[in-house]
Amino acid sequence: MLAAILENFNRLVLKEVPIPEPGDQEVLVRIKSCGFCATDYKAIKGIRRNVTFPLIAGHEPAGVVAAVGRGVTGFKEGDEVICQPSGYCGLCRHCREGNTHYCEHAYTTGGDGPEDIRPGAFAEYMVTGQTCLFHKPVNIGFDAAALTEPLSGAWKGMIQKSEMKVGDDVVVIGTGGIGLLCMMVAKAAGAGRLIGIDNSSYARNNAVAIGGATHVLDGASGDLKRHVYDILPDGPDLVVEAAGPIGAVNLMTDLRRRGTKWNVFGITTHEKFELDGGYTHFLEGRMDASFGTTPLAMQMAIRLMERSLVDPEKIVSHRFRLSEIHRAVEVMGQPERNKVIINP
Ligand SMILES: [Zn+2]
Ligand SMILES: [Zn+2]
Repeated sequence: MLAAILENFNRLVLKEVPIPEPGDQEVLVRIKSCGFCATDYKAIKGIRRNVTFPLIAGHEPAGVVAAVGRGVTGFKEGDEVICQPSGYCGLCRHCREGNTHYCEHAYTTGGDGPEDIRPGAFAEYMVTGQTCLFHKPVNIGFDAAALTEPLSGAWKGMIQKSEMKVGDDVVVIGTGGIGLLCMMVAKAAGAGRLIGIDNSSYARNNAVAIGGATHVLDGASGDLKRHVYDILPDGPDLVVEAAGPIGAVNLMTDLRRRGTKWNVFGITTHEKFELDGGYTHFLEGRMDASFGTTPLAMQMAIRLMERSLVDPEKIVSHRFRLSEIHRAVEVMGQPERNKVIINP
């Protein structure tokens, strides 16, 4: 099969390699579609250093079952499936409390986080455990299905962790792919006013056209607190940072009024931000965060798509064949792109 093998930072090689064989409880999936995540790009470019080589990246796949290993009961050849990238034991305390993303025996196919990193989906085939698979409803296309994992992250952050309520006035800082998915979930959940903040006019236009923003603000315009409070005189009910830079986190803390919930969602680097203790105490605002996904979140994302409440395919701006992956990498480095999809 053809696979994109990352042999070292900045050395991504297209190669013919043997098709992997599924072991016990494992399934071989022929990949139809895989989302290109920023973390894949960062691994390829050496921006993220926690990579062991060789790596087949790509952790947002959907495809068709090509073969099943011994003991697989939930799936058979020909089934259309969506893959959760994070495998889990199902037996440890965290798994049993529903937090499979905290699992002490976790593995990932193509992603990062746990020590056990298995080949991902920038390839024609991938093997994963049957507990990582979900049946793809027929009315969801493969490209949308490939975005189940990022959509599930948006649902988990907005609804499960921050408990967004119908009518809430919501501010999303950073309206790239994941920010747009947060906005789409907020819209589906009945957001009141929905403000998108981004430095890029391309991203702001997407916030309106795709994310359903009622207002957008230029992140570089200065005095953003005043602009937000001009639109929301009572201040936001929920602020979500889906951007990454520490400045976005600082803006989020600045936008709080009493009772505002805030979610540290985008930043993954180890930069510091400061809070005034007493002020934070009297605000009674709740801080949440969200990373990774769980079977519950995957299931809810599938339900949102199946019921046509959210169509994540709207955020796709580019599609490439696996053989064109180097062009996809180039596009990932450009500012004016949204979600990039690889169709092996
Ligand atoms: Zn991802
Ligand atoms: Zn576990």
